[in-house]
Amino acid sequence: MRTECVLLLSLLLTALASGCAVNPVTGQEELMFFGPDKDVELGRKYGPQIEKVLGGRFPDENLQAYVNRVGQRLARVCHRPDIAYHFTAVRQKQINAFAVPGGYIYITTGLLEKLETEAQLAAILGHEIGHVVARDTMVALSRQIGMTALVAASAGVGGRGSGDLTAGAAFISGVLSLQYSRDDEKDADLVGLSYMVQAGYDPNGMVETMQILQELQTIRPIEFFSTHPNPESRLAYLQERIGRRYAMFAELKTGQDEYRQNVLAVLLPNRDRREEVEHVAQK
Ligand SMILES: [Zn+2]
Repeated sequence: MRTECVLLLSLLLTALASGCAVNPVTGQEELMFFGPDKDVELGRKYGPQIEKVLGGRFPDENLQAYVNRVGQRLARVCHRPDIAYHFTAVRQKQINAFAVPGGYIYITTGLLEKLETEAQLAAILGHEIGHVVARDTMVALSRQIGMTALVAASAGVGGRGSGDLTAGAAFISGVLSLQYSRDDEKDADLVGLSYMVQAGYDPNGMVETMQILQELQTIRPIEFFSTHPNPESRLAYLQERIGRRYAMFAELKTGQDEYRQNVLAVLLPNRDRREEVEHVAQK
């Protein structure tokens, strides 16, 4: 027990030594208890376990390659292009997307089914990259599961032993039920919007995504808004930012056909057939 305490204390001290870091999204100095390398180690360690809890990788490699391609296009223009990002579609009915520290990003098939275009997918992935870059997940996690549990969860990473199983479990459930602050949420929206434009996507895709999610929310509470709180003015500030800064970029890629072909045709094969039948019936 004593040894564990000493180990924990020394880890905490090492973590504290990481000191202040500038958040590239907000430009503010923030007290960071871990260096960014620790995020990557934590993601590498717990990412696969989180993927399993989320229902596992959706078994269609063409769809996975497509989601990853869109994600990498955004990752190349983000504030931390040096991180190795992984974008994975997980087989899960819930409508949600998750960012695990260190660049492991998951989107559920439940959410993929509701989107209509590649630009809308880029909006979700860009928003999640925003959380990774700003290291929101680490800050929110330290608030949610406590600094001690976070330090203990990281004890096993980087080849320093097996780590603490309980802390690992706390880390995983923490990531899955994470609640970002409304400020983090707004920052992730706006930085995601700028990544979309830089990557060549129509920024209106983010407005459409929010409209889709909010419409779904009127039918039943959706999971996305339990982990990503909905700032009330979301649509207003997105439209204001697009109008003020990106109005001339509305001609950028929407990618409706690509999305239908690579995602919807796979997840909802009957929908296309139904549409065809309706189309023929109308003639
Ligand atoms: Zn969010």
